[in-house]
Amino acid sequence: MSTATTAHPEHRTAAILSIGDELALGQALDTNSRWLSQQLTDRGISVVEHVTVPDDLPRHVAALKRLAADTHLIISSGGLGPTADDLTRDALAQASNDTLTESPEALAQIQSFFIKRGRSMPPANRSQALFPSRGSWLRNDHGTAPGIAATISTSRDDGTHHCDVFCIPGPPREMQPMFLSLVAPALRPPAGRVIRTRVLPTVGIGESDLAGALGTLMNRDAVPLVGTTASNGIVSIRIRYEGPLSAPQADALLDATEADIRARAGRYIFANADTPIEAAVLDELRRQRKSLCVVESCTGGLLAATLTDIPGSSATFAGGWVTYTNERKSRDVAVPYSLFKESAGDHAPGAVSHQVAAAMARGGLATARTDFALAITGIAGPTGGSADKPVGTVWIALAHRGPRGIHTDTRRFSMMGDRTSIRLWSVRAALAILWSHLANSPDLQLLRQIERHQTP
Ligand code: ATP
Ligand code: MG
Repeated sequence: MSTATTAHPEHRTAAILSIGDELALGQALDTNSRWLSQQLTDRGISVVEHVTVPDDLPRHVAALKRLAADTHLIISSGGLGPTADDLTRDALAQASNDTLTESPEALAQIQSFFIKRGRSMPPANRSQALFPSRGSWLRNDHGTAPGIAATISTSRDDGTHHCDVFCIPGPPREMQPMFLSLVAPALRPPAGRVIRTRVLPTVGIGESDLAGALGTLMNRDAVPLVGTTASNGIVSIRIRYEGPLSAPQADALLDATEADIRARAGRYIFANADTPIEAAVLDELRRQRKSLCVVESCTGGLLAATLTDIPGSSATFAGGWVTYTNERKSRDVAVPYSLFKESAGDHAPGAVSHQVAAAMARGGLATARTDFALAITGIAGPTGGSADKPVGTVWIALAHRGPRGIHTDTRRFSMMGDRTSIRLWSVRAALAILWSHLANSPDLQLLRQIERHQTP
């Protein structure tokens, strides 16, 4: 049987269970929980817990029993493979007081998966056709492991509580299609209850200043709820409604709140949540018919790589230089050698300086003949720092052609973190400076924002 039926009349609350040593040990990132949570939330089901357990039968059974006792739905992923450490079938049977029986139909499906690929089924895969006798199996069109749908019933003071459990494979490219085709249609979101969320990303304002600007909109009893989250230099404003309104009414309420937020902080909001800052920058450049080049030292091409990750970037992004040595800075984009050299006296500014960043940007602009040039020079560490230029000192310059000639905007950042994050944050900061310039918000407070979120 390859269709799922559910015992619970309404799936009001749900838990996500992730299975695997690699997740519990931190060797792999649990992306399934995030994806599944979004799917359930979009359908009006409240996700109240995420749990990860290693490949350990007693812990797995205990987690299932505990979650089943007070939620209406569990979506579990992983542990459905053919090896001895794949325990989901056994755990589900134990937690639901059931026994495992072999499904001939599921076995035939697994065998046909191998036959289609010109192989015969290894004996170990036979275990994947075992299911709790009262459960049903879910066809897997993208791998060998069928999923399982079952119900765990718990005796409680207020009667018997039923929790529907869907066990689906761990690999995302098997998990996602199985969820969408077989689990989603079986879900029963609570009637008369919707959840609506919206995310507005900002740059150029720190989290507490943003909270100040949003004022009473952020009260914890406000409807809809408004909150902020900071991640990698971007502070996002989240709006969330959960309640009895119809979907169109809820959307209208979110529209009104979004308008209110934009009235207070609209100048800092770029595009929408699904648009990374590099895409927002490229869009804005395209809209204004402007071109960009980059001159990178400590980021070694990361800024160019980030921009060219976006399809169609060639419409506005011309290219650039990785000028890692002083010689390349001088030869490629005409940075005067005197800025590096002793001969300029004891006070030569050096490669990581306001003057060199500005000269890199101006040189790039002149050579590539673009409208904008971004330059980055800094000390990504772990070595190379000094008392007045510690690791994390990064200068970023934006040069552009204005009505009165070439204008340069140069900023110093003091970033914390390791080499990887300093380089990443430098790219973000450069893009944020350009975006703010394009969107005309000159009172950029990125320095503070970046420092705050880099502090461990
Ligand atoms: P298989 O038949 O492939 O063994 P399975 O259901 O047993 O399927 P697991 O063995 O638990 O799945 O996981 C297989 C792979 O799927 C893992 O190595 C990992 O790459 C990925 N995976 C598992 N769980 C998750 C998760 N929660 N988030 C992201 N990836 C996951
Ligand atoms: Mg496995």
